Amino acid sequence: MFDYMMTKEQLKIRDEARDFVKWVPRQMILDMDTDKIKFPKEFLQEAARRNLMGCRYPKKWGGRDMDWVTTCMIMEEVGVIGYEFACVFGVGAELVCDAIIRHGTDEQKEKYVKPLLRGDLFAAECLTEPRGGSDFFGATTKAEDKGDYYLLNGMKRFIVGAEGADYFLVYAKTHPDAKPQESMTCFIVDRTEGVEVKYLYGLMGCRGGGTGRIIFRDVKVPKKNVVGKVQGAYAVFNTMMIPERLGTASMTIGAA
Ligand SMILES: Cc1cc2nc3c(=O)[nH]c(=O)nc-3n(C[C@H](O)[C@H](O)[C@H](O)COP(=O)(O)OP(=O)(O)OC[C@H]3O[C@@H](n4cnc5c(N)ncnc54)[C@H](O)[C@@H]3O)c2cc1C
Repeated sequence: MFDYMMTKEQLKIRDEARDFVKWVPRQMILDMDTDKIKFPKEFLQEAARRNLMGCRYPKKWGGRDMDWVTTCMIMEEVGVIGYEFACVFGVGAELVCDAIIRHGTDEQKEKYVKPLLRGDLFAAECLTEPRGGSDFFGATTKAEDKGDYYLLNGMKRFIVGAEGADYFLVYAKTHPDAKPQESMTCFIVDRTEGVEVKYLYGLMGCRGGGTGRIIFRDVKVPKKNVVGKVQGAYAVFNTMMIPERLGTASMTIGAA
């Protein structure tokens, strides 16, 4: 990003991001590439210690009251050391937390966003299924309303950070007969009984980022873990795609 377009504060944070990237030990990069490290917890904890994650969120939830330009600049700098670092940096702090900040309750922000930005919790986003990712609203993972909770069953794949995640942002069908865009709900799912993670893919350029397949078998999800409205996944998905696309573009510039 061009220096002359940035404010002094943005330049300062850009320098902080550059310092952080220099901190990453060479051995960590090599160990991730050979899958000796399957999920770089220390990397995320250090990013959190430097308060670099989720900088555009309000300070009250652990951010820095900054903007999209600053977010993109940080993603670009992190992308310099490799796509896998930017991916794990992005999924929890920039995507999952974005959905919770915009659509979640204060209780969810307290329980899931603040600890993630402190480096105490890790998260992954679960959209793609073995049947394909492009047809997102054709998902088959379903959550049945059981009164006090939802019963979640299904499978997701290509989930970055699955290996280390303490919780997952999961999109599932709650009303399969409705129009596709009105059929799904977004949930926070704790890594609990019935959640199985398989570290699988060995993706070139993305090894060490914890990418895995997740199977949900009769997982009980409390109703208070719905993000946004029931059957309101369309709204959550639409805003979550903003950091998804901007972040992916920025980290790719960094990697280039
Ligand atoms: C590095 C990386 C990280 C990822 N991280 C995550 C993650 O953390 N969480 C997550 O949920 N997902 C993740 N994904 C998955 C990603 O979202 C999917 O790969 C993407 O949505 C495409 O789905 P698919 O790979 O199943 O391809 P498909 O949907 O099977 O599509 C295959 C090809 O067919 C084309 N195609 C599909 N439908 C049509 C159509 N109707 N008409 C014409 N062409 C069509 C597509 O354009 C594509 O070229 C990640 C992927 C990558 C590469």
